[in-house]
Amino acid sequence: MLLTFSPDARQTREFTCDCCNAPKERAWDFIYADGAPYAVYFADCYHHTDRDHDAWIDVIFGTWGAGPDEWADHVAFGCRVGPVQGQTSPASTLVTAGLAHPDGPLFGRKLDREAALQHPLLNDFWKVSDFVLENDPLVRGHLYGH
Ligand SMILES: [Zn+2]
Repeated sequence: MLLTFSPDARQTREFTCDCCNAPKERAWDFIYADGAPYAVYFADCYHHTDRDHDAWIDVIFGTWGAGPDEWADHVAFGCRVGPVQGQTSPASTLVTAGLAHPDGPLFGRKLDREAALQHPLLNDFWKVSDFVLENDPLVRGHLYGH
């Protein structure tokens, strides 16, 4: 399975952090698998003034291209990627999906950590989140330096 970004849909936007008013940058896009829409990700990069600079990545799987009425099968995973004591590279931890996003048909069922661990798409989620970590310029720069 070859993962790619969509040809033209990647977007970024800057927000203000809820906890400390520092900038928070978000990137989002479709991920294509073998040329067909496969998932959507949202990556929020936090520049907290008094906590670790981390990234929260949500990935949504389901049917794409059929309109909101066909989104009944959407399911969302989430992870936090950030520094871990005793490790030189950032580590990913499963978290409840979509915490920074309203409930709705796009995200569908937001899995918490326990539900995600049981879900058959868990490995697909790690593949997509690894792809985002390595290839999204905002996320990569945020976690690994420019
Ligand atoms: Zn903050």
